Amino acid sequence: MMIEPVTAAQTVHPIQDVLNQIYEKYRSLRLGVPATYIPELAKMNPEWFGICVVTVDGQQFSVGDAQQLFTIQSISKVFVHGLALEDHGREHVLSKVGVEPTGDSFNAIVLDEQSKRPYNPMVNAGAIATTSLIKGNGATDRLNRMLAMFERYIGHESHIDMSTFMSERTTGFRNRAMAYLMRNFGMIDDRIDESLDLYFQQCSLMVNCADLATMAATLSNHGKNPLTGVQAVPSRHVRDMLSVMFMCGMYNYSGEWAYKVGLPAKSGVSGGLIVVVPGRLGIGIFSPPLDERGNSVRGVKVCEELSERFGLHLFECEDC
Ligand code: GLU
Repeated sequence: MMIEPVTAAQTVHPIQDVLNQIYEKYRSLRLGVPATYIPELAKMNPEWFGICVVTVDGQQFSVGDAQQLFTIQSISKVFVHGLALEDHGREHVLSKVGVEPTGDSFNAIVLDEQSKRPYNPMVNAGAIATTSLIKGNGATDRLNRMLAMFERYIGHESHIDMSTFMSERTTGFRNRAMAYLMRNFGMIDDRIDESLDLYFQQCSLMVNCADLATMAATLSNHGKNPLTGVQAVPSRHVRDMLSVMFMCGMYNYSGEWAYKVGLPAKSGVSGGLIVVVPGRLGIGIFSPPLDERGNSVRGVKVCEELSERFGLHLFECEDC
């Protein structure tokens, strides 16, 4: 997975060169704190820092703690949204979850006044609703379908971290409250506890930032994993997934992110971040200290700089 160390005789690829520079620049940044509201996350080392890039033609670049495993948390929401679209189609998914950005926090207990839908699939309520849409014959079958979906994006099997799953399961009272509220309005079905377990399990999937970059690159590549050639999701759903990421992927920073970085992205409370450069590459970053909105401090800095240096903003222009 990792590129070979470069010897003096070799020239460093421009992408690797920029990653090395950016890594050195931000590794000493000591702002933010890792999430503590899920007890297992509080144990993460704030020094962990990795950046990976996977291009749509299968080149891989990485620097730092690229192999360090952590739980995927909210980044899973993008991919479960994709599976819900695959299972039910756009219209049905839209009838249960909106696509409106919200200025509220990711765990707000709030539904759209008129429709009673959660605002979008990237906030917890919306993600619980998309998770509840995952088809399958009972809890094990649904979990296995979800794990198989993640495997298509990542290119290998990954497992659920049992400690984080149990930690979330025993402390996730807000998520439980949202699920029951949504059941009241018919937004999710009767399998409330089963779907909540599935939600906590998806958040507890173990990945490293090389995996994240591959997952992002798969979305950049119309749903086809550039390393394995496997179609992870039908290409017709990728546009919907990326649109929601673009508008809602970075918590309450999504607007400013779209304005400054200009790329579909999703972050999670463990400090992971994926960024999709459509048709070109995927970026995965991991650094646990979070800012007050819940985004990885180093992750945001790295992306602002990568977008600027490579002119990656979707609306980039000659004289921007
Ligand atoms: N498992 C976390 C929760 O439900 C995910 C939150 C996040 O990463 O934004 O609270």
